[in-house]
Amino acid sequence: PRHDLSNELTALEGTSYGRYKSLRGKWWAGPAILDISRVQSDPYAPPSRVALEFDAEAADLLEDWYATPERRRALAVLLAKRFRKACPTRDLRIDGGGQEILRRASCTVGADGSVVFRLGAQFPGHGRRIAGRQAARLLCEILPDVADEALSVPEDDVLVWTRHADDVKALRESVAAAGLVAFVADGSMLARRSGVDQRPLESGVPFKSPDSLAVEFELPHAGAVRGMGIGPGVTLIVGGGFHGKSTLLRALESGVWDHIPGDGRDLVVADRSAVKIRAEDGRAVTGVDVHAFVDHLPSGDDTRHFTTENASGSTSQAAAVVEALEAGAKALLIDEDTAATNLMIRDARMQELVAKDREPLTPLVDLVRSMADEHGVATILVMGGSGDYMDVADRVILMDAYRPEDVTERAKALAAKPTGRQVEAEGFRMPRARVIDPRSVSSESRGKQKIKAGGTDGLRFGESDVDVRSVEQITDPAMTTGIGLAIEAAARHGWIDGESTVAEVLDRLDEALDAGGEEELLRIRDIDLAVPRRHEVAATLNRMRELRVRQSE
Ligand code: ADP
Ligand code: MG
Repeated sequence: PRHDLSNELTALEGTSYGRYKSLRGKWWAGPAILDISRVQSDPYAPPSRVALEFDAEAADLLEDWYATPERRRALAVLLAKRFRKACPTRDLRIDGGGQEILRRASCTVGADGSVVFRLGAQFPGHGRRIAGRQAARLLCEILPDVADEALSVPEDDVLVWTRHADDVKALRESVAAAGLVAFVADGSMLARRSGVDQRPLESGVPFKSPDSLAVEFELPHAGAVRGMGIGPGVTLIVGGGFHGKSTLLRALESGVWDHIPGDGRDLVVADRSAVKIRAEDGRAVTGVDVHAFVDHLPSGDDTRHFTTENASGSTSQAAAVVEALEAGAKALLIDEDTAATNLMIRDARMQELVAKDREPLTPLVDLVRSMADEHGVATILVMGGSGDYMDVADRVILMDAYRPEDVTERAKALAAKPTGRQVEAEGFRMPRARVIDPRSVSSESRGKQKIKAGGTDGLRFGESDVDVRSVEQITDPAMTTGIGLAIEAAARHGWIDGESTVAEVLDRLDEALDAGGEEELLRIRDIDLAVPRRHEVAATLNRMRELRVRQSE
């Protein structure tokens, strides 16, 4: 590293803005190293990218705090949030994240106790001239002070986060060992303040499990925790409108991530591979085998290799199910509010009026049993408007004024009275795997650094815009960027090779990320990102309109 950044900046006072570029590289900054990795070309461009790196001695954290990957992840989020809070100026911009604990670029804690903060810094200018003294103050005084403040974290605060990390890890292991798909602890606060504010609604009604579904786990710090366990198979959530059904399902969707302490969903967990499924008319679908759900289209289109630029509600939802299974989902989450009715149900009267051979759609109600029994895929669905799922449900949870009740026995009794409805499918067969044509997702033809996230709604990948508004488990704008970079990495490393199946490509990505490969893989030096799950990567790939695939033999 070079010395005397402050003098260097002062000397640049009044010179042309472009000369900031000469500062790229590493500098000594007190006990830390300042890495200026990208410099904006003018004062109005997006901020420059800098990192402040502390070795273990400089960071001075207690060894116990960073003893496990889960603690390091939680601690990094805590430090990024403290950094954001300590920041006195908009000219330093760190990504502090939201309610989830994600691996993100903005702060990482190493296994050796080192800490890196990565952030945007707006290099000051007088018009197109360098404001060197201001820059020296920003980078050599304010920045180190803020980092110092972030790192001076009281032990009690850290312990809340690291103990929580231990507890959630233990909870996930216990829930899986008990053969459960999801768990919602008593006392959880599931409701959010609003659609645009994901913090907990403090005046909400705390969750309480019915006795018949209650399980208890012993956690290392929190001790015994009681809550509702959701087993495998088909789970139906019923109840009147506004009684909290969707809120419960959304908490489960979010349960694939860990949450920050005090979120209200601290001890709500779902199988890490759970995928929210919904209808999304207008999306593109590429070479997906949807024939279990859609067959004999009047257009004569082959639904074993179904491709469209403009899917209907039902075909988009059918494609979403098949794509989720292809990526390895072991649990599907569906809400009637966002599902295509004609893919969900077809009741006895409609079966009588419209013969099966005139209806291309096979409703999910006739396939979920086989998915569960033959393929080990659980379904949790909210359905307040039709009783047909009582025939196939393993358990039925009634939400009554935000309180769950177990009405499985009553529902089974009702299901024993025949409605005259005919089952319309023999069983579900797993679709054939697909292989991506590497030319359709190439990183080269698109040049370097062509990834731009539009919040959680869209991703620009090279020349193409991918609409991910309906991929509801993308909860964080930085995750959208992470997805784009993951796809780019898969292309760059040749994992999308024209031979490997989609699942194999995702496996290699997971392996690389599990091995701590995000630094190199996702270029965390250059850009704010959060590491995504394979399921959101797949969902984004599947929505790329340029995607070309073939099905493997
Ligand atoms: P449903 O899907 O059954 O129609 P929602 O889950 O959409 O109902 O909930 C309806 C309203 O009640 C929402 O505004 C939601 O925020 C609120 N709500 C849900 N659960 C709770 C709770 N436990 N405490 C307080 N309000 C809640
Ligand atoms: Mg609802």
